Amino acid sequence: MKTILKKGKRAAEKTLIGASQVYYNLAGNKVECNICHYKANKLKSNSWHAYSSCPNCGSTVRSRLLVAALTMLDEFSESKLIVGKRVLHCAPEEATKRAIKGKPAVYKTGDYLAEGYDYGDIDYNLDITDMKQIGDKSFDCLIACDVLEHVYNLQNGLTEIYRVLDNGGYCILTVPQKDHLDKTYEDLTITDPKERERLFGQDDHVRIFGDDFVDMLEKVGFKVTAVDEKFFDKAIVDKYVLFPPVLSKHPMATNYRKVFFGKKV
Ligand SMILES: [Zn+2]
Repeated sequence: MKTILKKGKRAAEKTLIGASQVYYNLAGNKVECNICHYKANKLKSNSWHAYSSCPNCGSTVRSRLLVAALTMLDEFSESKLIVGKRVLHCAPEEATKRAIKGKPAVYKTGDYLAEGYDYGDIDYNLDITDMKQIGDKSFDCLIACDVLEHVYNLQNGLTEIYRVLDNGGYCILTVPQKDHLDKTYEDLTITDPKERERLFGQDDHVRIFGDDFVDMLEKVGFKVTAVDEKFFDKAIVDKYVLFPPVLSKHPMATNYRKVFFGKKV
């Protein structure tokens, strides 16, 4: 009986694989996710950005841009930043996690655990503005994608990131930036979710970043490079969708994504 059930399960799995292959062929191959290698003529749309999300692994422009830097730019190659290194991944996104899985010597994850949410398997219940559990210079690389717009004390967050990194280590950060905004706008007194959404883009954000994020990182002591789509050939940008194929008209959208690599010098 058990065998019959198993056989049935296998047959069902085969059918599913077959069906996804048919869809894959129909979906074309003009674009490719550089993380899970899903191919299609267009990626999926969400409410803010058209054709920018991978329907298979959930990657967005920011995670694919990060992975493009790690795999295609010598200066920030994964062999220098990730492979055999001690990596702390804050609020780990599945797509980025998938891209670096198995490569670091030590891979730890941390998130600020709020009640009522499922964070999956996380190593540290971590407040990035006060990482008590982490000793000085404990990691070679810290990754935090779209985390710092949530924290109240940004300055403490930046000094903590610097503290836990070893000399020569890197932080890899992304933050939501309103297009063409020079100066970061924050107002911690605004607590109304609707107002936060209107002013910062989401009901649990307390700021929207401007171009001065680079200055903030440099002030803490990092040597910063902001990697954007201009670091890659147009054919690569189009293939891996490293820039939104259609500019979002949402007033708080980040169309011009950057991945900030900060070296502790
Ligand atoms: Zn994908």
